[in-house]
Amino acid sequence: MPFQTTIERPVATEGTGLHTAVKSHLRLVPAPADTGIVFRRVDLDGFEIEAHARNVARVSYATSLMKKGVFLCTIEHLLAALYSCGVDNVYVEIDALELPMLDGSAQPFVEMLNAAGIRRLRRRRRYLKIVRPLELVEGDRRIGIYPADEFRVRCFVDYPHPLVGRQEVELAVNRATFSHLLAPARTFGFVKKFIGLRAMGLIRGGSLDNAIVIADDRIMNGPLRFDDEFGRHKALDMIGDLALVGRPLLGRVEGHKAGHALHTQLVTRLLADPSLWIETTFETSAAPVEHSQPQGVTRAELHPSD
Ligand SMILES: [Zn+2]
Repeated sequence: MPFQTTIERPVATEGTGLHTAVKSHLRLVPAPADTGIVFRRVDLDGFEIEAHARNVARVSYATSLMKKGVFLCTIEHLLAALYSCGVDNVYVEIDALELPMLDGSAQPFVEMLNAAGIRRLRRRRRYLKIVRPLELVEGDRRIGIYPADEFRVRCFVDYPHPLVGRQEVELAVNRATFSHLLAPARTFGFVKKFIGLRAMGLIRGGSLDNAIVIADDRIMNGPLRFDDEFGRHKALDMIGDLALVGRPLLGRVEGHKAGHALHTQLVTRLLADPSLWIETTFETSAAPVEHSQPQGVTRAELHPSD
């Protein structure tokens, strides 16, 4: 799609935040070209926070934004849906400090976008095309971004739990692949860590309805939607964090036991070093790429856990 997009008509939902347990109303509203994804705290006179790496707040448990002291958290599932479905411009009106968790996946957001419709605008898209690799390593965790003619992600997770273990997901990200292969994958949490997280004031809104809960020997609220739902959810989270680039990417991202902190560091370092990328429209240098882009559900290599 060489042209920018927005949504056709407003759509709304409501629900409770995972960490704060605060109830919020969320509304997506069409926005003009070159707006990007902009949150509006309608409970604070419409204060705007752009979904951009420069506004990232340094917290580890969820992707959060902070601008002039105004905070907004758990934005990654909505951003993953908007970014993967190719919505470049939208206002996200929200009346609380955390987005609703809904069922813990990005599926409800994809359904909202289906209901809203996607409208093409006249302005061309400006892609960020990776021309030199960038890798970040932190102990046994790492993330890298490499040149590619489409947006691809590869995500490897390894949890010391017999029901999770190692899972690896790789796919070209577009509306069809995201909707079918990643969006339904839910957030997950371990019973063992529950008390510690609660003591830190987190997951106050967590329940068996908005996260997969994993006990020592069983899934408390199965069945799983995919055998490797955990790896798929982490790939979803990674895409949501990459959306903070603020523009569509042409590049391949590989995460190895990475998390929000590494994902957002990659975005910040990438944007800070213009020798790593070029800005392009399909009209110019990347024209042949558009025709080679696979249609519909494309190749998705999904490796079951070892
Ligand atoms: Zn998540």
